[in-house]
Amino acid sequence: MTPAVSKIIWLAFGAAWCIHWWRPNRRSRKTPVQYSARDVRETVLLVCSLSGLGIVPLIYLATGFPRFADYPLIAAQTYLGIAVFSGSLWLMHRAHRELGRNWSLSLELRDHHTLVTAGIYACVRHPIYSGFWLMAVAQLLLLPNWIAGPAGLVGFGTLFFGRVGREEQMMINAFGDEYRDYMRRTARVMPWIF
Ligand code: SAH
Repeated sequence: MTPAVSKIIWLAFGAAWCIHWWRPNRRSRKTPVQYSARDVRETVLLVCSLSGLGIVPLIYLATGFPRFADYPLIAAQTYLGIAVFSGSLWLMHRAHRELGRNWSLSLELRDHHTLVTAGIYACVRHPIYSGFWLMAVAQLLLLPNWIAGPAGLVGFGTLFFGRVGREEQMMINAFGDEYRDYMRRTARVMPWIF
């Protein structure tokens, strides 16, 4: 397993994610927004996440920059990265299907928004974010570079910690005790742990 192969695998998984993401994005855009908490802070958080998970690794792939931070790849890293990225795509696919038209890129409530608490949402409250955490771990494993590899964890981590509390508050405002009860019986992104 060479670094080049590992990078191509990251790119292929990334492309698969983009193709998969296009559908829920198109579907949810057809459903009018009833309430939006999208503000400058949300835009900055989205840019951080996009930079860490997309722009920094793509620059690395295209130019090799920052080459000084390269390190020797261990083959097991690539195999583990493939497994983790596969798990991430599966999780996001399932969560998107279950969330349906309630999905938004940002903090928004759609017309006739329903609270989803079944399926994968019975295990964790934020399975799409669990999927993004896994995607960031896969990037760390697949890209043998001390900056481009962890950039996804830093970028998505910024979005996650900057957003998740606000998202839950928005859901409490909309669904009240139903969401509070749901919070009591579920973890955020990892069952029993967090
Ligand atoms: N945090 C969730 C959803 C991400 S999409 C996840 O990781 O799976 C963000 C939008 O999903 C939010 O704006 C909110 O309107 C909606 N949302 C979040 N949790 C929801 C739930 N349990 N049921 C319905 N909609 C939800």
